[in-house]
Amino acid sequence: MKSILKSIIEDSRDSTKLGQVATYIPELAKGDRDALGACIFDVNCDSILEGEYKTKFTIQSVSKVVILICALIDNGKDEVFSKVGSEPSSDPFNSLLKLEINENHKPLNPFINAGAIVCTSLVSGDNGIEKFSRIHNMMKKLANNDDIDVNYSVYNSEKLTGNTNRAIAYYLKGANIIEKDVEDILDAYFKCCSIEVVVEDVAKIASVIANNGVAPWSNERVIPEEVNRIVKAIMTTCGLYDTSGTFSVNVGIPAKSGVGGCIMAVVPNRMGIAVVGPALDKHGNSVGGVKVMEDLSRKLSLSIF
Ligand code: GLN
Repeated sequence: MKSILKSIIEDSRDSTKLGQVATYIPELAKGDRDALGACIFDVNCDSILEGEYKTKFTIQSVSKVVILICALIDNGKDEVFSKVGSEPSSDPFNSLLKLEINENHKPLNPFINAGAIVCTSLVSGDNGIEKFSRIHNMMKKLANNDDIDVNYSVYNSEKLTGNTNRAIAYYLKGANIIEKDVEDILDAYFKCCSIEVVVEDVAKIASVIANNGVAPWSNERVIPEEVNRIVKAIMTTCGLYDTSGTFSVNVGIPAKSGVGGCIMAVVPNRMGIAVVGPALDKHGNSVGGVKVMEDLSRKLSLSIF
């Protein structure tokens, strides 16, 4: 498997030239456009690292998976899905377009920005600091790494320029979907997106979800079974924004992407996979990451369908 991953990464390198690093958060423009690295971490704790696996990146929208896990554990399924939908969106991740016409102004799903901001507001804690700390602790536990922390340059850059997210959050407050202080919730959301990781951290998070919510290294249940099932379902239908359907056809693995260039994928009962490649397509997905996932799925027969 190691040699297959190595040759797939080498074969995919050219594809990164077709993408661009995210620039709408100025600090992300410093990402290495040519980098491509991956980690496979299986449910027996065997791991494979290839390419530029030491590349550090901010987790960005992949954190939406952990935010959803916390929101579901803290509130239950019915409460969460009374405030956010579970339908795919055909619009970009930061779109405001449907908020006005959706039933009760609910965001379509937890993996577009609007839905993730609502889920952040639902996480336990009296304020943004407590909510962030709940999500951060869950992320550390899922990655089995107490050292992961916020990249404050990215956080400050995002906070300074995140006016679309601010517009989304204030709209949701006006529609009574968000009840608490908007700036406080946004602050927690921006911090979650700015957590800095390497592919091994993300592959470990995915391995817990692949192992039905039980950490493979300790046999401790971290995610309740029902929550884990829901998260995999939403990853399958909504994980790659408005290209989730194409990704299902070509890869067929529950996954989540982020504009830091990461794709996290969960092969149920088998392994967690994380790929990083900061060059993105126009939808905000890693070009190299998608290519690596397509080839891996085909060569290792990983599609769940
Ligand atoms: N922090 C980013 C934002 O809110 C996350 C978006 C993403 O990774 N798609 O715009």
